[in-house]
Amino acid sequence: MSWTKFLISSASANRVDKKSLLHLLRRSCDQIGVELIPDQAEQFWLYLQELLEWNQKFNLTGITQPEEILIKHFVDSLTPLPYLAGAKGLLDIGTGAGFPGIPLKIAAPFMQVHLVDSRRKKITFVQHIIRSLNLQKILVSHGRIEEMPEVVPRYQIVISRAFQQPEQLFHLLSGLLAPQSVLVVMLGPTNSGDRSRLQKLGAASRLVLSRVVCLQLPHRSGARTLLFFNKRY
Ligand code: SAH
Repeated sequence: MSWTKFLISSASANRVDKKSLLHLLRRSCDQIGVELIPDQAEQFWLYLQELLEWNQKFNLTGITQPEEILIKHFVDSLTPLPYLAGAKGLLDIGTGAGFPGIPLKIAAPFMQVHLVDSRRKKITFVQHIIRSLNLQKILVSHGRIEEMPEVVPRYQIVISRAFQQPEQLFHLLSGLLAPQSVLVVMLGPTNSGDRSRLQKLGAASRLVLSRVVCLQLPHRSGARTLLFFNKRY
């Protein structure tokens, strides 16, 4: 039996243990060019436990299988990291249960990270994770990004994953992005076809599409697209 099949069959029998899951995490991170040290893998394990527990009451994510959370939330969130070399600060707009901001913070602990979401229950959860994992240099704001215009210009990298209306982001952010900053839009399998539409919409907001990364998540977990936009002055 293949390794993946073993994990999936074990998962359905609720027999996936910590060692197997962390092995899957490290192998998957290797495939996307991200290296984790054991302490970071341990933080992901704690994050997984808390997400599984809180999700039973608060419906934070529709993905409920541990190995799926690992690949489709954690590893997916880390896919931009190889393209963010040297980034000092990152703003995650519409972070939900912490994606991609918390995985990026765990993997790049020296980066200042700021998480924003308009839903109170999501913010309560990410605050709990920050405390539980003892994450430092991380800020959290509850509210709509359009109501905090002072926040955006502070960050070199502004990122958003699975934001319902990326065009709204362009409209809101284009006037606020700092010079030399980059807006990273993470598209999932359902909206990756939006690429040319978003390129046009970005251009209308003076945002130039500077890089497109098309990738496959490990273990045949689907296609993803990363769009990097620069502000045109
Ligand atoms: N990034 C997460 C969540 C995506 S769902 C993930 O990839 O799983 C989109 C999130 O954006 C929701 O949690 C919603 O509450 C938040 N959101 C929607 N409009 C917003 C706005 N104007 N400002 C801040 N957060 C917003």
